[in-house]
Amino acid sequence: LIVLDSVNKWFGPLHVLDDVSLSVARGEVVVVIGPSGSGKSTLCRTINRLEPINSGTITFDGRPLPAEGKKLAQLRSEVGMVFQSFNLFAHKTILENVTLGPIKVRKEKPAATRERALALLDRVGIANQADKFPAQLSGGQQQRVAIARALAMQPKALLFDEPTSALDPEMVGEVLEVMTSLARDGMTMVVVTHEMGFARHAANRVIFMADGKLVEDAPPAEFFANPRSERARDFLSKIL
Ligand code: ATP
Ligand code: MG
Repeated sequence: LIVLDSVNKWFGPLHVLDDVSLSVARGEVVVVIGPSGSGKSTLCRTINRLEPINSGTITFDGRPLPAEGKKLAQLRSEVGMVFQSFNLFAHKTILENVTLGPIKVRKEKPAATRERALALLDRVGIANQADKFPAQLSGGQQQRVAIARALAMQPKALLFDEPTSALDPEMVGEVLEVMTSLARDGMTMVVVTHEMGFARHAANRVIFMADGKLVEDAPPAEFFANPRSERARDFLSKIL
């Protein structure tokens, strides 16, 4: 579904993505880990073209990423993204946050969208908060709204960039639970996270990045039991 072939990206002199090749099959869950500054967020952001690349190719669902216009808007609706900071609209209700994209971008009928949004809020466990505003919810609840909002666009894949890093520890579990259930239901997911429990239990593959390079790409059992590179061993010894 997602294929990166020899992707390079520089920020000025900084080589942030160094010949990265990666493919993510439909239904696969890939967890991306690595030290700060290794290029994990940049990798995610290139996949829905929030960041352009300097060389190499990226295809999504068999087509090269469009550079602009309607096709880019369509790509962004097909590749949902969930950020560390939930980025909800503060002056819209929870329900409006979820229905806005489908109505504005996908031109869906409000009544049908509302039904689906309520079902999605129910799925992430917050149907009873639909008429509240984001500030009235906990961080964990807000992040679950952000996931429901991404799902409302009926994406073919979801990208998560440290979705639990801004949360109080007691709220991490409820967000990971929702993500695990999406993974089980076959959603294609690329997840940057430091939650190694999630990586072990929900990922099909773990990717380790360092200095813009994709250093390891292995099933979690193999990666955690026997990391091949010194960089990965060193990283794991610090976080586990
Ligand atoms: P973290 O774990 O801290 O989130 P990361 O692995 O997500 O790190 P990136 O955010 O992808 O790393 O950044 C990779 C490198 O690119 C870093 O050195 C960062 O400072 C640099 N960088 C990121 N965005 C920009 C930008 N817009 N302009 C210039 N440099 C950037
Ligand atoms: Mg990052």
